[in-house]
Amino acid sequence: MTEIETTNFIEQIVKEDLEEGKVGGVQTRFPPEPNGYLHIGHVKSMLVNFGTALKFGGKCNLFFDDTNPSKEKTEFVDAIRRDIEWVGYRWAKEVYASDFFDVIYDYAEKLIHMGKAFVCDLSAEEISASRGTLTEPGKESPYRNRTAEENLRLFREMKAGKYPDGSKCLRAKIDMASPNINLRDPVIYRILRATHHRTGDKWCIYPMYDYAHPICDYLQGVTHSLCTLEFEDHRPLYDWVGITLGFSPKPRQIEFARLNITNTVMSKRYLKKLVEQGLVHGWDDPRMPTIAGLRNRGIPPKALLSFCAAAGICKADSVCEQSYLEHFVRDELNASAERAMAVVHPLKMTIVNYEGEEETEFAVNPTLENSPVRKILFGKNLYIEEEDFSLAPPPKYNRLKEGGYVRLKGAYIVRCDEVVKDGEGNVVEVRCTYIPESRSNHDTSGLKVRGTIHWVNADRCVDAVVKNYECLLNDAAYDGQDFDERMNRESEKVIEGVKAEPYLAAAADGTPFQLLRTAYYKKCTEANGKLCLSFIVSMKDSYKKS
Ligand code: ATP
Ligand code: MG
Repeated sequence: MTEIETTNFIEQIVKEDLEEGKVGGVQTRFPPEPNGYLHIGHVKSMLVNFGTALKFGGKCNLFFDDTNPSKEKTEFVDAIRRDIEWVGYRWAKEVYASDFFDVIYDYAEKLIHMGKAFVCDLSAEEISASRGTLTEPGKESPYRNRTAEENLRLFREMKAGKYPDGSKCLRAKIDMASPNINLRDPVIYRILRATHHRTGDKWCIYPMYDYAHPICDYLQGVTHSLCTLEFEDHRPLYDWVGITLGFSPKPRQIEFARLNITNTVMSKRYLKKLVEQGLVHGWDDPRMPTIAGLRNRGIPPKALLSFCAAAGICKADSVCEQSYLEHFVRDELNASAERAMAVVHPLKMTIVNYEGEEETEFAVNPTLENSPVRKILFGKNLYIEEEDFSLAPPPKYNRLKEGGYVRLKGAYIVRCDEVVKDGEGNVVEVRCTYIPESRSNHDTSGLKVRGTIHWVNADRCVDAVVKNYECLLNDAAYDGQDFDERMNRESEKVIEGVKAEPYLAAAADGTPFQLLRTAYYKKCTEANGKLCLSFIVSMKDSYKKS
């Protein structure tokens, strides 16, 4: 189980409820609707729900809110389970709203008996037209005063399949003049012939979320029902259901702000659109903010949790910079990822005075105390980055130039004696001499060299492809999220002809590396067996702590 240090207003409320004896223990639930894949916003919700329960020695259920059969699928249920486990949380019980369909139905009959619900024949459009506005009350339905007997008969007939979809509904009888529109006789059951992924065709009526959720919370013994701010206006209805049905103890709903991040799309609806329009390769595309995408990107779950905890749990809506998330990813990888070398745009380097091969030493992760070292074979034929050599170096250029010196990481200092050009004047090879006394950690050469560059052994290296990623959206703004025009159509760039250390090819797929002086990449294997290095995050921290 992942425990992350947090303190926030929700924990404060829970603590007070415990101290005042309002609750005996803490039970929460993480309530995804299985209509898509989880995204990073859900990590925040997990941190709140699982985190609060953990902190107070309570329990958190995984609650599938499956009251909307036309959009829900078992595929999504399985993906959600896998994603939560990967983030590092374990649920107490796995519960579905559909487990409670019978009880939820019985409670609706109870409301009818109490005169608190009625069958309404208005269409969805008519109901919405008669709901009123923020400044004007709504209009009562002409069916509002049906007797309990008539309502019960009609409701049972709805359940038995006597009426077409949408021709009737069950509404709570609350107050058409309430300043809160959610209390203006909300619909609590609708007729819908849709095969449910768990109950099949048993039901042709389904409860609405606002009505079913407080019941499901109560039946699970939820003490604190933690959800995002858009449900704040629904809390009076949540409470109305609990109070009217006599729930004791009644679960307490507390809302917190959603996590928003710049330069990306977050809502499931839009993520689905990206997948369906083929703008990404799938739900787990490394550019997606889905948990499957972040995992595939090579981001450690700990980085996601630390980021969400640092972004904070509060009541005020805000938008986090993409660079703030990257800051946590980099921190985590800097501490955990092994270092390796790959040359993305190779330039041939020949060490003219060197023959044979020898093992040089390379620190696996210099941030570790006593970092282990591994051996890298140095030889006569190498590759360096094109951009690490300059024919016309600007002032203070520390890398290689004609007649200049540079250190090859973990190996020797070399001097560039000769430059070979092709017919068009492009540099195709640099010919160097190495200084035998300059070997790293054994340097007696007395030479002071400012630049160190990475390299690979041309006789030992492996061909690779690099995949680089940028943000999905060009535009940072996080508004209504319509992304069509703001889409960065070049967010994926594939670079062929990369030369990598054989160590990278031998690593397990999924292993993250810091490619020296380049960025953090995840090792993968292409369908054709070729080594692929897939971008995780840059080396440079652009996040400014304010
Ligand atoms: P989406 O906006 O992706 O459609 P949703 O709210 O419909 O998300 P649910 O499956 O209903 O997704 O969400 C499960 C839980 O996660 C809910 O309690 C919801 O409030 C919470 N949640 C969803 N998105 C975020 C977010 N961006 N930040 C924090 N919590 C979120
Ligand atoms: Mg939702």
